[in-house]
Formats: sequence, C-alpha cells, structure tokens
Amino acid sequence: PRLAFVASRIAFEEKRILDELDRRRVSYQVLDPRTAVFRLDRPTVPWSVAVAREVSHHRNLNTARLLEHAGVTVVNSAAAIALCGDKLLTTLALQAAGLPVPRCLVTLTPQAALDALDDFGYPAVVKPLTGSWGRQVARLADRDAAEAVLELREALPDPQQRITYLQEYVDKPGRDIRGLVFGTEVVGAVYRTSASWRTNTARDARTEPCPVGPELEKLLAATAAAIGPGVYGIDVLEDGEGRLLVNEVNHTPQFRGAAEVLDIDLAGCYVDYLVEQLVR
Ligand code: ADP
Ligand code: ZN
Ligand code: MG
Repeated sequence: PRLAFVASRIAFEEKRILDELDRRRVSYQVLDPRTAVFRLDRPTVPWSVAVAREVSHHRNLNTARLLEHAGVTVVNSAAAIALCGDKLLTTLALQAAGLPVPRCLVTLTPQAALDALDDFGYPAVVKPLTGSWGRQVARLADRDAAEAVLELREALPDPQQRITYLQEYVDKPGRDIRGLVFGTEVVGAVYRTSASWRTNTARDARTEPCPVGPELEKLLAATAAAIGPGVYGIDVLEDGEGRLLVNEVNHTPQFRGAAEVLDIDLAGCYVDYLVEQLVR
C-alpha cells in the first residue's frame, strides 16, 4: 500500500478514518511506532503518504521526521507537529501572522513569573508548553495561587516545565469553540460547554453545533494557513466583548464530539484530504 497509518492506538477517530479508507478501497498499512524500525542507511519505504496519529507526541513527531526523510508526505508534516506541539511556538507563529491571541507572558524560570504577574494581572492561566486534554493547565486566581503552582512547577523533573507560559484568563461564556480545518476547508465547528473552566471534551464537556459565520471562518482559515497545510482542530475563545481569540492548534484533531452533533461526514472530509495527497 502507498498509505501508512501511524498509530499505536485505534480510538474513535482512527477507526472512523480506517473504515472510510476501507469503504473507498484505499489500501493502507498500520504502522505502530512502538515497534517501527527505521534504517537510515536504507531509507527506502514503500509509502508515499502517511497519516501521523500516534498518541505519544514525541513518537509522532519523530516518526514524521523519519518518514519525511524517506520522501513520504506526512499528514501532518513534522514541521506542523513541532509547531502545534509547542504552545509557545504556536503563539509566536500566530502573533507573527497578525492573528488575535490571548495576552501572553513568558518567563524562563517560574520565579521570574511571580513579580511579572502583579503587573500582567490576575486571573492568569499557566500551561505546559506541550500537553493536551487540559492536563496541568491551571488557573491562577491571585498571587497566593500563583506562588503555590509556580513552586510546584519548579520542582518538576522536566526542565521544560520551568519555561513558564502564561495567558490572561479569558472570561469566556462558559464554553470555547473547536473549529476543524482539513486542508484549506473549514469543515465545521462546535461549542464545548463544561461546568469546569477547562472545556476539553476529554474532561466531559458537552458539545453543541457552532454556526460558522464569516468572521469565524476567516479566523480558522487564516490560523491553518499560518501553521501550514494539514488537518487541525483549532481552539478559539470568545472574550467578554465577543471577540474571537485563537487559543491553540491541535495537530492530531479529535472529532468524536463534533461527529456526534454535526451533520457533516467528518471522516469523509478527512479522507478526502488524504486522497488528495495520494494523487499529487
Ligand atoms: P490543551 O492542549 O491541554 O487542550 P488548552 O490551552 O486548550 O490546553 O487549555 C485547555 C482548556 O482550558 C481550553 O479548552 C479552555 O477551555 C481552557 N483555557 C485554556 N486557556 C484559557 C484561557 N487563557 N482563558 C480561559 N480559558 C482557557
Ligand atoms: Zn491541545
Ligand atoms: Mg485544547
């Protein structure tokens, strides 16, 4: 087969995409990065396109790099995975493209953030540069909370956790927006509403259809364009004045919640994009 499907876990999205490939009789080979071996002295591989949906970020990124080295077009590209897998790099790319993002403060040690926060203002949100499902994303209500959380982050073994990425807390209306862009097509959007301020679907957020008006459509398309070609799930926050701010871009988009409420063939759109890469 000319298509490789990189994943160690076949969850809802992977199953839907593989079923759709079967339905269209597009043959593929599932490549499990936990056991894959790459001989750099023999860099030929049978595939021309690969889908990178490995759940481990580092395995996904490095598999994409190795496949690209062997001449394979990877969805998403190693560059896009590296960019979206790092919230600071993402923010820098979005700001460089002139896109609206939450106000952001970065320090290279947790201690340096504490005094800077007095001027930046509370509440603020601190996040690991790399992560998902809202894990270790913490809201800092005041200086006491900041002191506690930053001290804990300082004691974490991973040196990357000392890079302190803070955003203003965006006073959103109890929900955020998840927009899906496959290739250049804005395929749809949902609201994610949750009792918790972290509205990740993995944290039991409820999903409802979100109408894609011209402003949202333009913002989603421009965000994907700033990152480069690929398939993306884009988190958008609405602030108190109803302005739209791009929070982050996910490079292995999940769409279970969206599939449940949108009358759109999301797996079909995803596979359309993959097939476009195959015939290129
Ligand atoms: P992850 O990659 O873990 O999903 P996010 O940056 O998307 O990290 O944060 C998880 C959730 O927390 C978001 O979906 C959103 O609901 C909430 N959140 C994150 N940052 C902010 C912020 N600056 N203001 C308000 N809510 C936020
Ligand atoms: Zn994310
Ligand atoms: Mg998110």
